Amino acid sequence: MPAPLKLTPKGERRLRQGHLWIYRDEIQGAKPEMHGSMVAVNDSSQKIFAHGFYSHKSKIAVRIITRSAQVPDRSFFREAIRAAGLRRKGKAGKNSGVRLVNAEGDFLPGLIADWYAGQIVVQCLVPGVDVLREMFAELLWDEFQPEGLWFRNDSSMRELEGLALEKFMWRGKETPEVVIEENGLKFLVSLSEGHKTGWYLDQAENHLRAKAFARGRCLDAFCFQGGFALHLAAGAEEVVAVDSSQPALSVLERNCELNRVKNVLPVRANIFEILPELHKRGEKFELVVLDPPPFAKSRKDLGSAAKGYAELNRRAISLLNPGGILISYSCSFHFALPDLMEVVRKACGELGRQARLIEFHTQAQDHPILFNTPETWYLKGVVAEVD
Ligand code: SAH
Repeated sequence: MPAPLKLTPKGERRLRQGHLWIYRDEIQGAKPEMHGSMVAVNDSSQKIFAHGFYSHKSKIAVRIITRSAQVPDRSFFREAIRAAGLRRKGKAGKNSGVRLVNAEGDFLPGLIADWYAGQIVVQCLVPGVDVLREMFAELLWDEFQPEGLWFRNDSSMRELEGLALEKFMWRGKETPEVVIEENGLKFLVSLSEGHKTGWYLDQAENHLRAKAFARGRCLDAFCFQGGFALHLAAGAEEVVAVDSSQPALSVLERNCELNRVKNVLPVRANIFEILPELHKRGEKFELVVLDPPPFAKSRKDLGSAAKGYAELNRRAISLLNPGGILISYSCSFHFALPDLMEVVRKACGELGRQARLIEFHTQAQDHPILFNTPETWYLKGVVAEVD
């Protein structure tokens, strides 16, 4: 093991405060050949010793795995995976889609593992994890005993790390598509083609919460394969479900058949075009869900992202009948909860409406948020009643 990397005072402060990331300009002595390896870092008083994955490509140079002087080995990682499993024990109920390992949130930076009804889908997002992927696959296999394990290493995050895009079945029965149960509903998940690892597991708890507000005509904007739409259908007269992706809408239709749901109307459109059109036609709704993709992938996108969120929320609010419910999300870390509140405040101001906060939403519990690494909190939502 090479000598520990030296930290700048800023890096030391970050390490002392328990943050799991050390940025490139906060370390000294890193070399290109360390890319993908495990490195040690310590503070100048030598009191804290930590180990992490090093990347020479990313702005985040070191992702801390453990604050221990011992180099993490196979048995360390086995324990980390076991601990992640225990953290979720008894929480999924009958749901058969569960995030087993959520990267930093489970002290396994760069490793994602999702359980879909007996199949595990793995993503290796940083080079340190990619180097050890056989080991991680074996450990996940032993711990959770799935019927199959896939690698879905086709996330664009890998390109930023200089890693190739690929997807393949690692072991077990090849099952490109499974049916998961979520809150009593059935959803088809494509393990080989779906977004992320197949399904938006981070919204599973919010799908259920949204159901409680369903009535009259509802609009699910950015519906993907119907996570919100099918939950809302139980209490609504009709749910208009809009997405720009035809493959997503085709699966949504199959999900409706699977659950014998008949009051969801899939519409293929660009949300930014259809919201003004609906307004022009004088259409009104009792509830609108806005669950857009991340508009701010980095801090520099914040200006344009804010404009996008502002326009969406303004248009959604203008479609609500008095007393209607807005459920509005942002999954951009950089666009924080106060920013989302501000967007709704401004939109209501411009439209001459008043809105009352009913509840806050966040990512499902199997996507842990670490207080000391605030970047692990990316999904936030507000439920507001609009007069
Ligand atoms: N609400 C979903 C997840 C939404 S993910 C759930 O709970 O499962 C975001 C979705 O937005 C994707 O399906 C993507 O196809 C869609 N999308 C992205 N940009 C869009 C646009 N401009 N108009 C309509 N849909 C869009």
